[in-house]
Order: sequence, then C-alpha cells, then structure tokens
Amino acid sequence: MTDATSPRPALIGLTRDELALALGTIDVPAKEARMRANQLWHWIYYRGATRFDAMTSISKPLRTRLEAHFIVGRPAVERHLLSVDGTHKWLLKFDDGQEVESVLIPETDRGALCLSSQVGCTLTCKFCHTGTQRLVRNLTAAEIVGQILNARDTIGEWPSPAGGRILSNIVVMGMGEPLYNYENVAKALAIAMDNEGIAISRRRITLSTAGVVPMIETVGRELAVGLAISLHAVRDELRDVLVPLNKKYPIAALLEACRRYPGSSNARRITFEYIMLKDVNDSPADARELVRLIAGIPAKVNLIPFNAWPGAPYECSTPAAMAAFADIVNRAGYSSPIRTPRGRDIMAACGQLKSESVKARRLLAAAAPPIPAG
Ligand code: SAH
Repeated sequence: MTDATSPRPALIGLTRDELALALGTIDVPAKEARMRANQLWHWIYYRGATRFDAMTSISKPLRTRLEAHFIVGRPAVERHLLSVDGTHKWLLKFDDGQEVESVLIPETDRGALCLSSQVGCTLTCKFCHTGTQRLVRNLTAAEIVGQILNARDTIGEWPSPAGGRILSNIVVMGMGEPLYNYENVAKALAIAMDNEGIAISRRRITLSTAGVVPMIETVGRELAVGLAISLHAVRDELRDVLVPLNKKYPIAALLEACRRYPGSSNARRITFEYIMLKDVNDSPADARELVRLIAGIPAKVNLIPFNAWPGAPYECSTPAAMAAFADIVNRAGYSSPIRTPRGRDIMAACGQLKSESVKARRLLAAAAPPIPAG
C-alpha cells in the first residue's frame, strides 16, 4: 500500500522484525531499531495513528525522516454504506485499482468484522457471487490488516479498548479462499492477535474455508484460531457441483481433517456452514445425513439462508424447510442457528457491492461520449 502521489511504502502489514529492517533502510542504527520498531508498533496498532506527526514519543527528527520515506497506510474507501440495522459495508480500493469488500456486523455487546483474503476467488462455488468475478489475486498482509484498521477508524475504537468493543471478533469469511493465501492471512492474523496492538485473541477469530484439506493442520498448529467449514452438502455428487473444490478434497477427507483439528473440544467447536438451497440440499434426509457425518466432532451448524443475486441458479429454502432441517440437527445435540440476514439494504451478500461498482463503471464507460478522432 503506497499513496497515490508518491511511491512511499506503507508500514502496516510488517512484522516487528520487518519494521526494524525498514528502519535500517533510513539509517536508524541496528541497536536502536528494535526499540523504535516497538514504538511504531504501539502507535500503529494500539493507538491507530495514521500520521508520523502524531507519534510524539518518537523524536522529531526521526518522525520527519519517517514521513519522508514511508506512509503508515490505509486502504482507500471507495464506498462506505451503513445499513439501518447498523451493519457497515466498505468497498476498499488498493493501489492497483482492485477492490474488495469488508463488512462489520455489530451486535449489542460485540461485533464481528468479516475480512476478505483475495480479490475475487478461484473456487467458483455455484451459489457464490464472488466466484463469478473474474479477476483474482491474493491480498497482501497490509491489505488484510488494512481492513481491520479501516473498520476501527470508522467506529473510533482507538486506542485498543480492553473490553466493550464493537469490533470484538474477526471472521475470515469475506471474498476469497483464505487457505489459498495462507501466508498473508497468517501474517495479518498474527498482527491482529498481538497483545500490544490490536489484541483480538485467537478465541475471537474464525477462519472459514471451503476445505483446502492439506492446509487445515497448518492452521491448527500455527494459528489455532476457530475453524469454520463451508460444507453445504452431505453427498460428494452434490458437493462436487456446489463447491467444485470437493472433487479434489472430498467430504470424507475434509471431515477427517476436522476430527484431527486441535482444540476441537466442546470449548472450541468447529462451525459447519450450510447454505440453504430450496429443493437442492434442504431435505430432512440431508439433515439426518449431516448429523451422521459430523458425529463425534464437537461442532455447531450454521444454517445460512441463501442470499439470491441477479442470475443466481438457486432459490433460498422455505422458512418451513429451514426450521425442519434445524430441528433435526438440534435434536441430535448440535446448536443449529439459522443465520439472520444482516445489511439486506446495503447488498451485504458477499461480492454484491463490488459487482455493482464494476457494473456502474461499465455503464458510465458505455455512456461516455466517444473520444474525437484526430
Ligand atoms: N472461501 C471461504 C470463505 C469465503 S465464502 C469459504 O468458502 O468458506 C464464506 C461463506 O459465504 C460461505 O460459507 C457461504 O456460506 C457464504 N456465502 C457465499 N455466497 C452466499 C450467498 N449467495 N448467500 C449466502 N451466503 C453466501
């Protein structure tokens, strides 16, 4: 993340060691760099400073040098929508013009920020709007951390509050497949979890995957955050269609990885996400098979009403079908809430706002007068 007017690099997204190295490039002596890196860390991630000027514990001459060579860094807010139900949605734009969404869903005494991990997504899940967007690239750690800093700027949660936060939880459940961009996601989450900065504990972070099986063990070992699995179907024939990644990592292999996931005790249950598609995956037989599949895994099941988008090949299940499905799962001893849609008025369904923005630009381009020849 640089700024538009000069190519000064951003400091957000760097580890403490990388910050110290960056300081080395502007001739901060090695023996001082570590201490200065800690000061920067405090200002950037604990206080939320966006300008070196504000960093009053750092000497004036060093602040001036920092200002000449770096920016702190924030994504540009292309659009910010606030729903009547309090949900915030941002369309953020990065240096190369690429855009992603992030969504903050406040509840009474807490709230979750939904982070994107990629521009677009390669997985082409049939029900997901993001999968229809063609351009795909990984977000950098700075671009992922930038989403957290941006949300905190908006709600004014600086310095990092000890408790009573609106942004209390993080879910990596936005655009993209986080386990196809593991390194940057891991780096960003390590920054978010650091106690001397943003300080959101691993118990309040959930990473959602469509099921990149070989990476699940790594997540458990290195991050030990909560795991959510986008299951959506209980038979391989159907899951191959809904979540094509299933052809590579079928249901049995996925559930085996879940059984081995550390901390999947009752205190730390795995969340299975299940999108409710009318007459596709929502029968009582599907519910019973789901219960059979997850037997023995400390789990909860999130039933997600399908959020339709223009041209979507599915419809949302009826309320009666969802209630019957939830009841079967619930009677088997699993919590099975039906997710309440939030931010309906601001297109909070994944990928929708970005598509609208791309469409609007195409319309504008089409309406623009032709460039005169010669
Ligand atoms: N690639 C990761 C994270 C992004 S998708 C994964 O697959 O888990 C995260 C969730 O978005 C999916 O589980 C799905 O429940 C939800 N989702 C995607 N499209 C949706 C739609 N049209 N309506 C409702 N939920 C949707």
